[in-house]
Parts: sequence; C-alpha cells; structure tokens
Amino acid sequence: MTASTLITHIGSLVTNDPSLPGADPASGPLGLLRDAAVVVEGDRVAWAGPAAGAPATDNAVDVGGRALLPGFVDSHSHLVFAGDRTAEFAARMSGRPYSAGGIRTTVAATRAASDDELSATVGRFVAEALRQGTTTVETKSGYGLTTRDEARALRIAREHTQETTYLGAHIVAPEFADDPAGYVALVTGEMLDACAPHARWVDVFCEQGAFDGDQARAVLQAGQARGLTPRVHANQLTHGPGVQLAVELGAASADHCTHLTDADVDALAGSGGATVATLLPGAEFSTRAVYPDARRLLDAGVTVALSTDCNPGSSFTSSMPFCVAVAVRDMGMTPDEAVHAATYGGARALRRDDVGTITAGARADLQLLDAPSHVHLAYRPGVPLTSAVWRGGKLAYRR
Ligand SMILES: [Zn+2]
Repeated sequence: MTASTLITHIGSLVTNDPSLPGADPASGPLGLLRDAAVVVEGDRVAWAGPAAGAPATDNAVDVGGRALLPGFVDSHSHLVFAGDRTAEFAARMSGRPYSAGGIRTTVAATRAASDDELSATVGRFVAEALRQGTTTVETKSGYGLTTRDEARALRIAREHTQETTYLGAHIVAPEFADDPAGYVALVTGEMLDACAPHARWVDVFCEQGAFDGDQARAVLQAGQARGLTPRVHANQLTHGPGVQLAVELGAASADHCTHLTDADVDALAGSGGATVATLLPGAEFSTRAVYPDARRLLDAGVTVALSTDCNPGSSFTSSMPFCVAVAVRDMGMTPDEAVHAATYGGARALRRDDVGTITAGARADLQLLDAPSHVHLAYRPGVPLTSAVWRGGKLAYRR
C-alpha cells in the first residue's frame, strides 16, 4: 500500500478545477478553495477539498494557512546553450535594439561546449526554476544548427524533460547565410531524421530575419510527417503569418503573440483552445519592447499561457513568479488570470491533462507559497515566496 499524506490548513488552494465541491464560484476557472486540504498518494493527488471534509490518511502536514498552487508549467524555454551575452544585454540597455542575429553568438559557444557542460547547464536551470515553483519545463534545441549539434541538444534536453522541441529552424545556420533554401532542406531532411527520435514538438522562428511563412510551413509540416506536433515562435517582433499558420496547422501553441491583427486574434479564438497563445513577458522586459496585450486575447476567449522563454539572449529569467508579476502589472491580466495562465495555461500549451491542476488523479506537482494567497505572486514582486515544492508527490524543494 502506498502511504497517503494529508496537506492541510491550506489558507487558499488554487485547483484550476472550478467543478470541485467547495470551489468559490467568484474565482471562475481558478477553482479557489479556502481552508482546504489535499491528499497525496504516491505520485498523484487522491483528493482535494475543504479541510473539514478530508479523509483519514497515514501522515499529515500542516501548512499554517499558506497558499498551495499547482506547480508552474513553463512551456517555453531554451536551456541547451553555452556562452554569455551579458555585454549584449548591457549594450541593449544603453539603447541598441534587439535583432534575431545575436543568436549566432550563442550558436558558436554551444557548438564548442561538451555534452557534460550542456547537460549541467540544463540541470542547473531546471533546478533554479524548481526553487521558484516550476515543476514542468519544456525546452528546445536551436543553438546547434547542424545535424549533429541539434540532435545532441535534444538528446541532452531529454535527460531533463520529456517536453523537448526541435528548433533547427531558429535562425538560418551561418554556413547557409547565402542559401536559406538549402538550410530549410537540411532542417526538413537529414537534421529532422536525426532529431525526431528525441523530440515531441517541432518549432520554427517565423519572423523577418529568420523564416518566412512558406519556409515555416515547410518546417512544421515536415515535423508533423515525422510525428512531431507544431508550436510556433510567432509575431514577436513584427506582424506576420506565424499565428495564422500555427492555427491552420493545429499547433499546440503560438508563442510571443506580441504584434497581432484582429484576424490573428480571431484565428486563435476560433481554434477553441487548441492553439494556445503563449505570452513571454521576459522577452519584452529584457529587450525593452512593448508587451503583448493579454487583455485583448482573454476578452476574445483565447486560451493564454505565460512562460519564461528562458534563454541567454532575449529573456534570461527562469522565474515564473516574475512573469506573473509583469503580466499583471503591464499586460492587463488580473492576478487570478496570470496564475491560471502560468499553471493551467502552460499545461494546455503542452497538451497535458495530468499537470496544471490540483484535482483527484492529477500528478502531485504542488507549490507552497510563504504567503496567504496566490495574489502575492504579483503583489510582492521580486520576493522569493516559494516555500516548498512537491514533484510527483515527492518533496523536491523546501526552503
Ligand atoms: Zn523562444
């Protein structure tokens, strides 16, 4: 028999399951319960509800009125890299604009790094994210840009997460600067063959200076033919075809969504949640750019996720609490909406039903805040509130 553990005296419990008995109807999709308890059995949540109705268990943990939430689901990061771009950031903060080209610096350093060095880097950032409440991390290739280096990046990423994304089409490899068509042929051919066994998703940076709509379509469809599901870097720096292509091809997510036409918003809404709009405020923060308009998307009925885009060039943060705070302060989201997007929204962007909620049957991926409410994630920006994190029912971090 698996031992059961009761986590009780939860001051406020975010379940993302509004159908749970005792959930406050005013909290909408957040499914908020006060004075709640959760029962963990093995790696799963066995029960969640009002503390007064909790079943008998083998063990009990009293969390003293603190807030318990699903672990954050960070559905967009670029952790397989080497090198340092501190000087580029400092220069940009002195007034130079961001362009896609800085990626080449990281490509050169990543190619030169050893497997062990790259794996240690991924592990370090996954652990850093865990200490801030993140229990599921997606990460991408995209700094290798050769068949060998892209496959290596995905193999290393797989040591740390099942949510791996083939992004050979991050930028055109420097060797193909005069032959972008040749590079697309490589990305959709030999490189894809080497990478597909290590990846769940296929992605493309659809942007001026990276890949146009036709090239992006070719990359995504080739990935689909190999069993990968698309996600798209879309409409980050300019208007473009990325978002509508994502919806058309049934991508799980259109990421960035900073520059949208009404037709783009309609397309995302029309997908009925199949294509999530993943907003990455760390990128706008770190490039001093205009934030995406989350309010416009939410009001149109689009499913929204928040994610870090953690990468050394344009968004070097692993902090989901930071993203929640910025989304509330500058993107028109309420604290409830931002927390929902950082948990349930991220799970939807990865098409995962087992994470992002605290309800019977879900994975016991939980975070305890040193605060009475999830609202404090935005109310107390920059303050390390993560008190404990359980991953798969096991205590993975405790301050
Ligand atoms: Zn990205």
